[in-house]
Amino acid sequence: MSSSEPVFSKVSPTMMPTLFIGHGSPMNIIANNAFTQHLNQLREKIPTPKKILVVSAHWTTRGVEIQSSANPTTIYDFYGFPPELYMLKYPASGDPKLASLIQKDLAPTPSLLNEKWGYDHGTWSVLHHLFPKANIPVLQLSLNENWSDLKDHLALAARLKKWRSEGVLIIGSGNIVHNLRMIDRSPQAQVVGWASEFDSAIKKAILARDHSQLTMKGSLKSHDWTQAHPSLEHYLPLLYTIGATDSHEKISFPFEGFEHGSLSMRSVLIG
Ligand code: ZN
Repeated sequence: MSSSEPVFSKVSPTMMPTLFIGHGSPMNIIANNAFTQHLNQLREKIPTPKKILVVSAHWTTRGVEIQSSANPTTIYDFYGFPPELYMLKYPASGDPKLASLIQKDLAPTPSLLNEKWGYDHGTWSVLHHLFPKANIPVLQLSLNENWSDLKDHLALAARLKKWRSEGVLIIGSGNIVHNLRMIDRSPQAQVVGWASEFDSAIKKAILARDHSQLTMKGSLKSHDWTQAHPSLEHYLPLLYTIGATDSHEKISFPFEGFEHGSLSMRSVLIG
């Protein structure tokens, strides 16, 4: 070691927090509202990541897949929205090398590298506001729809934890309450009781790190779950935000609220 090297060169870089973002409607991509403003403010509250790993509600697969393209395309996986939404791009680069390293870390769980998948709107609708310069490499991890025990998602997330100390920001993108058949599109939509109650119950479970509640084995009835989530893909990303953290880490909620009366827009920041 030469005398010019810093004495503390082995000090690990800043530990990145994890985030869960309730992404809501694709209209938020072009909206300027309290939710999109909170995304812009969040950037100032957290260290700048070196890389970003997103688990999005909009990428479900049979088995686990890791996006491995060097230049993922922008996917327009929403229909009937204004033309300007389909002209926007999120031109971040991917990270094939990190994809391969993560694949090794996930073992013994088998996973596939996927060079074809681009950035779905669960990913880019959020990053468009959070990191608008698109100058940080981004890759996605899919949701394995074969797993019926939600603990499997928490366990997989725990294997991603080490990357946080390497400057990787892990983001889950979904919604804590998401039932599109129950939304009220009128401008005067009022928050409905069942949605607010489910959102509060999950908030409490997050704060208490109550894994039995968070994995559908707690006191919430199955009816509460099916009402809040006719399918679970918008819920599951939350388990990655939680699973990649330690029990002593600080938990906060940078945004709370609802869109269309029942779509929870709650975001979670851990660490
Ligand atoms: Zn969505």
